[in-house]
Amino acid sequence: MLIHKIEEVRNKIREWKSQGLTIGLVPTMGALHDGHKSLIKKSVSKCDKTVVSIFVNPIQFCPGEDLDKYPRTLDADEKLCNDVGVDIIFAPSPKEMYGEGHIMSNDFLTYVTPPFFYVNKLCGKSRVGHFDGVCTVVNKLFNIVQPDFAFFGEKDRQQLIILKKMVNDLNIPVEIIPCPIVREESGLALSSRNKYLSEEDKKEALALSKILFNIKACYKNGIKDCKALTETAYSYLNSNHSLEYLEFRDANDLEEKNIADENTIVFIALKIKNVRLIDNISLGEL
Ligand code: AMP
Repeated sequence: MLIHKIEEVRNKIREWKSQGLTIGLVPTMGALHDGHKSLIKKSVSKCDKTVVSIFVNPIQFCPGEDLDKYPRTLDADEKLCNDVGVDIIFAPSPKEMYGEGHIMSNDFLTYVTPPFFYVNKLCGKSRVGHFDGVCTVVNKLFNIVQPDFAFFGEKDRQQLIILKKMVNDLNIPVEIIPCPIVREESGLALSSRNKYLSEEDKKEALALSKILFNIKACYKNGIKDCKALTETAYSYLNSNHSLEYLEFRDANDLEEKNIADENTIVFIALKIKNVRLIDNISLGEL
């Protein structure tokens, strides 16, 4: 069932809560692919009812980013959701979520701001204010849907860590369920932004996963020094790549690592032409 209005979602949630049903929420920006699908399927199998939100959230885009051209494919998204048994697709307009005007201004909107230590690094460094926008919209979605479980992909690992911190710090009664990264057979992590890539660009984009897989292989072979591990990456880069960061950080609090261990995540962001892609890998898992 496709719903655009907050009040209509609330009515359904009230009905489900009165029946004692468990509710799963999968927040997305749409242009759904198999990565999103894996989260949705997990929710459908774990919860009595599943809500998928589809909302290209304007306050998490920085000036000059791809807000206007971000792919919007609601008809196809609706079909995918219906095929896997979603109960509500919640697709509000920006006006429904934020009211008329005021959208980008924190003079007029109450924001949820994650701790500086978590946002002054990795994606937060170049995307100033991005995680405020994410935390604010996810909080609103939690308040509207009141889910028991919320499903987020490890593809956006910094986001996942920040949202876990938010839920813990603000005592939000929801359990965050992390979901593994879904990749193409080539290794490329699925992303709605892959739609911006030509076939040639997609080949260049393999550098991300190749670098991460190679670092993990070197780590498993006994190299623990992060500087030495970083050096193995450069052979995968060429003049079509603009590396934004390649960093080793703690899986719980994003503290920088000099010596890699089982709790280390390797994070990478690079641009191919103007398309910014991110990926990460946990050195701890097999
Ligand atoms: P987005 O629509 O890009 O905001 O993503 C919505 C959710 O899907 C987020 O929790 C993402 O981390 C997750 N997601 C996106 N791509 C993937 C992927 N390739 N594998 C697993 N989860 C993903």
